[in-house]
Parts: sequence; structure tokens; C-alpha cells
Amino acid sequence: MFSKILIANRGEIACRVIDTARRLGVRTVAVYSDADRDARHVAMADEAVHIGPAAARESYLVGEKLIEAARRTGAQAIHPGYGFLSENAGFADACAAAGIVFIGPPASAIRAMGSKSEAKKLMERANVPLVPGYHGDDQSPELLAAEAGRIGYPVLIKAAAGGGGKGMRPVLKAEQFAAELAGAKREAKAAFADDHVLIEKYLQRPRHIEIQVFADSQGDCLYLFERDCSIQRRHQKVIEEAPAPGMDLARRKAMGEAAVAAAKAIGYVGAGTVEFIADQDGTFFFMEMNTRLQVEHPVTEMITGQDLVEWQLRVASGEPMPLTQDQLRIDGHAFEVRLYAEDPARGFLPSTGTLRHLNLPADRARIDTGVRQGDVVTPHYDPMIAKIIVHGQDRAAALRRLSLALAETEVVGLRTNVALLSRIAAHPVFASGDVDTGFIERHRAELLPKPTGPDDRSLAVATLARLMEWRAEATERHARSADRYSPWHRMDGWRLNGEGHDEVRWSVGDSTVVVAAHYSRAAGGDPSALRCRLDLPGGGMDAQAVSAGPNRMRITLGGDVFSARVIAVDANDGGRDYVVFAGEPGGRALRLNDPRDASRTDAAAVGGGSVRSPLPGKIIDVKIKDGATVSAGDALLVLEAMKMEHTLTAPSDGTVKRVMFAVGEQVAEGVELIEFEPAA
Ligand code: ADP
Ligand code: ADP
Ligand code: MG
Repeated sequence: MFSKILIANRGEIACRVIDTARRLGVRTVAVYSDADRDARHVAMADEAVHIGPAAARESYLVGEKLIEAARRTGAQAIHPGYGFLSENAGFADACAAAGIVFIGPPASAIRAMGSKSEAKKLMERANVPLVPGYHGDDQSPELLAAEAGRIGYPVLIKAAAGGGGKGMRPVLKAEQFAAELAGAKREAKAAFADDHVLIEKYLQRPRHIEIQVFADSQGDCLYLFERDCSIQRRHQKVIEEAPAPGMDLARRKAMGEAAVAAAKAIGYVGAGTVEFIADQDGTFFFMEMNTRLQVEHPVTEMITGQDLVEWQLRVASGEPMPLTQDQLRIDGHAFEVRLYAEDPARGFLPSTGTLRHLNLPADRARIDTGVRQGDVVTPHYDPMIAKIIVHGQDRAAALRRLSLALAETEVVGLRTNVALLSRIAAHPVFASGDVDTGFIERHRAELLPKPTGPDDRSLAVATLARLMEWRAEATERHARSADRYSPWHRMDGWRLNGEGHDEVRWSVGDSTVVVAAHYSRAAGGDPSALRCRLDLPGGGMDAQAVSAGPNRMRITLGGDVFSARVIAVDANDGGRDYVVFAGEPGGRALRLNDPRDASRTDAAAVGGGSVRSPLPGKIIDVKIKDGATVSAGDALLVLEAMKMEHTLTAPSDGTVKRVMFAVGEQVAEGVELIEFEPAA
């Protein structure tokens, strides 16, 4: 076994490899770009080497820098992770030339599978079934059009050098072929500097089923069963599971053996995946081979109880594989979902920004992630936030776990696909195992419903959170205040005229929703509970909130009792959002529109010598006299505006030079009420 390895990657896969290396007592070297200086993988590794600017092309994709970093730190091997240089035969060669072990297959095997067309020629010779199609060298448009006609429409044009769905175009009719061919070639040229294409029969409602293979340098090769990756968007995987629903033993064996034949045909060593596309009747065809570890490898680990990164390290250091084919068993069922920073409603556009709040369900699921709360998802790299992986004794049990885990997943600060993932997990067709690659598109209306305004429950929860916040602020002010018995510090909306009430205002689109809270003074019950009647758009409701940990409340609303979490964040545009997690997948953001906050901000902004009225209103109390020395936060006077009382406080320590109005006077908005001199 190696004593030190370098991980030529970032994010969750770098963290994942470090985890296993540490368990095996192998020291780790991370690499990082300017954008990743404070990244989780850097913090986790024993050592880290800076390799350049944020752009991957100038850092993670520069083989020489990685090899130099390995040399300098004395790493004996490089784990490439996936993406970046993991399927770059030139890099594998360069590692060998530098005397560093590339933890992956031989460069020749990468080359053999590098072109989808060449791979198909090889597979044809190894008697692996292929999708009907054309993968020849003649690329003249006339010949390609004729081949498409022979295969029969619809067909799929694919870039031979392709990956990530680029240069891939379905063509439904002969008339569209020329235009789509030109488009696919342009895209392929731009993405891979190679516009060679192949044509396949475009299967209807197919399933993506892939086989995990492994081979060692002793010449043994085996398969670790299948993964079903049919839940896709834009031909890219979103949810993966193992085993595949409905797979029977005979087909599993046939696919496994075909995959092993494919690997053996190219002298494979290490972890690899043979991807098949399966027809509705179960007929399967070779699609491509990925000569690396896959993003979705954890579902295989969960059902086999094996650590594939450990296998990789052992095999790369010359050891045989830990188990034989006969010793491998499938235990239960596993799902993986990819939590992406993206906006499904806007064509799955990546979303960037700071993870203001991140709660991943680590108690319920295996979490593979490269980020922590407070980290930034940048536009430089893949927008995956985390993989959430669950295991259960059967598919139904695993699916229940997945739903629970997703319900506890909270991300604030950027858009994510968590609501989509939750809706898929809850969908009866998905639950029945009837999956194919068109699932998301076909069920689009249910999975990606049009956004609606906030419901009464979200409004109630956000309002209760806001009231709890006020109460906490009042308690704190009270604790700091000399006049502990002043009714102005009471926390229950107490008013001179008896029953107290507060109002919280929310911006909903262009309109404002005001939620009034009338406090009940009933005795008994939990003394820490906030109890009130809320006027909601749908009618009045009795509510109670009890704090249950940071940002968490136990709520009683009407007859319902539930837990909720509310995260308040300052938005980039200066507004303040309350993101409510109370059962709705992905949470619900409400924009606060609050005159009380305006008063605070204004008061805080005075500095230069005055306290102004934040709203038009009436002075109902003056709590200080001219010349008084006050501390920051001390109550100065009380203004009644919009049926609410607003206590204006001292913006800083200082002296009240002059109070400009007396009790009972009306004042306009923005008027100077107190001439104030901050302490030096
Ligand atoms: P990539 O290199 O982008 O992974 P693949 O060849 O593996 O490209 O195909 C990606 C996805 O495109 C598959 O998982 C499947 O959903 C779809 N696909 C590929 N080939 C076909 C086909 N012949 N018919 C229908 N869908 C296909
Ligand atoms: P900002 O509003 O901060 O300027 P964007 O408009 O680009 O930034 O997108 C972030 C928005 O997404 C924020 O307004 C925030 O309220 C909202 N948001 C964040 N987390 C969630 C969530 N879990 N559910 C719904 N909306 C959210
Ligand atoms: Mg693929």
C-alpha cells in the first residue's frame, strides 16, 4: 500500500478519497486553485498544494502542475477522481513517465474507450451487443444521412469524443437530419476539438443500466452488479439506485458477463463502468465505457458493503482484489440523489452563491460532500452540493428513508433541485419502479409545478418566527435596561389599552400580506410558549410556538402540531428573507416587509446627530429629558404608527441634546425628533 497519495481533484470526490485513505493509514495531499483555498478537501487533507487560478484549465487540468505537486510532496500515486484528468490517457502516461502511479486503468485502456466509435468497434469484436447504428470513419453528410435512414428514425447523433451530453442530438425526421448533424458537429468541435459523430437508433423510453466492473493486475476481472441511472435531466443522471428495479438473475448475469468481456477486451485494470441502454423488453445494448470511478459508485458500495476507493488503492499498489465474484452479494437496496445548486424551473441553470444555511441529513443518510455552510458555490466548477445516499432492506424501505432524508435537507442562499428530488421520491410511478430516461420530462407538470404564493401555514410559521425574534430582542433589551419594570419591555405586545397585538408584513410578489397577531393572556401552559391568534389570509387561527433549538420551533396551528425551522437571511438585494422549512419540499422563502425594521435601520443610521421618525405617526411617550446621557439601545420615545407602537432607541452611547416634540403631537415621516450627540 502507498504511504502517501495526491488527489488531483476537488469537492466531494476529493473528500471521499481522503476519507478512505485516512482509514487505511495513507497520508493525503490535496491540490487547490485560488477559488478553493478554504475548501473542505483542503482542510481535510494532511497537506495541500496550491496549483493556480480558479479556472480549471489553468489549475486542475494542468497535468504538469499536478505531477510536480506529487513529486514535491513525495506522493507515490495520484488519484484523479472523476471529471478533470481522470480519463486523460496523456496524463496517465505522464504520471508513469514521472514514476508516479496513476490510480486508474492503463493509458491504453483509456485510449481504447476514449472514442465511443472506436469502443463500439472493439465491443463488436468482443460480441458485446450494440445499439443498432453507424460508427464508421466515413463522416460525409450524405453517407451519415443514408445511414440514419437505414437505421430508421428517430435516431440519435452522438459526438464520438462525447461526454456530459454534449454534441448529442435526437433527430425525429429525415428532414431535420442535416441541420441537427451540423449542430452536433459544431457542439462537438467546441467541446472536444473533435467533430467525429456516430449515429444510433434513438430508443423510446429506455433505461440506463450500468455495470460496475473491477480488474486487478493479476488478470482477474469481476462485476459488482448493476446501477439503474434512468432518472435523468438533459441526458444527465439525477438519481441512481442499485440494484435495478425488476432485474432478474439471468439478465444480471448476462449483463455482468458482457461487461467483464468488454473490460477484458481492453486489458482493463481498476474500477470501470460499462454503460448499457436497455429497451422496454429488457434487451440491452453497450453504450460506452467510463474508465474511472463514477459519481454514483456509493450505491454499489451500499449494497455490497465494499469500499471501492479502497479497492482502487489496493489494486493500484499491486494487490489482488479483496474478494472474488462468488463472494460478492447484494444486500438490500440503495439510492443516491445528486443535490445540485441549480434552478429546475429555469432549464436547470446552475445557481451560484453562498450557502447561508446548510443542513444535510447526516443522521439518516450517507452524505458525500465537498462543502460546508458558509462556503461559496462558484461558477468555476460543477454545481453539485452533495450526494445523499440511503440504504434499506428493500427498495420500499430505502425509498422511505430517502424521502425522510430529503425532508430534512435545508439549503438557503441559492436555488437547488431538492424540491424536485423530493417530488420524484414521492411519485407513485417512481415508487412502482417503472423508471425510464424520459421520466422527469413526462411528469414535468407534477414534478416542477408552477410556483404559487405562500400558503397560510408558511405565513403563520414565518410570522411566529418573527415574533419570537422580537420577543428575544425585547428580553435582551430588558436584561440590559435599568428600568426593568417598564411596560415598554414587556414581551407580549402588551398595550395600555388592554389586549396587545403585533403585525408582521410580508411582501408577496407586488403585494403585501399583513399578518396580525393578537396575544392571549390566558394563564397556564408552557410559560416560554408564544401564544396568539393569527389573522391569516384564509382566516383566523390559534397558534402557539415553543422554541426547540436554534432556529427551530414546535408549533401548534389550529389543531395541527409540527416542527418547523425558519432561517432568516439578508438577500443580496438588501432585503431580508425568512426561509420556512415546515414540510414543503425545499422550503419556502418569504420576504419581510417590516416598518419596525425600517425604524431600527433608520435609528441606527442617524449617527450624525438626530433621531428621525421612520413613519408618520403620533408621539405617545417621551422617556428622556433634554441633556440626558444614554447608552446605545436605550428607549428614547415611543411613536404610534400604522396601529403599532415603535420604540425609538438611542443609536449609540451619547447625549440627548434636545427633544423636539411632546406627547400627543403628530409627526411626519423622516422628521427629526431628537437632536442627539453620539459619545466621542
Ligand atoms: P455521455 O457520454 O454524455 O454519458 P452516453 O452515450 O452515456 O453519453 O448517453 C447519455 C444518456 O443519453 C444515456 O444515459 C441515455 O439517457 C441517453 N441515450 C444515449 N444513447 C441513447 C439511445 N440510443 N437512445 C435513447 N437514449 C440514449
Ligand atoms: P438574492 O435574493 O439573495 O439576491 P437570488 O435571487 O439569486 O439571490 O436567489 C436566492 C433567492 O433564493 C433568495 O432570495 C432566497 O430567499 C431564495 N431562497 C434561498 N433558499 C431558498 C429555499 N430553500 N427555498 C426557496 N427559496 C430560497
Ligand atoms: Mg455515459
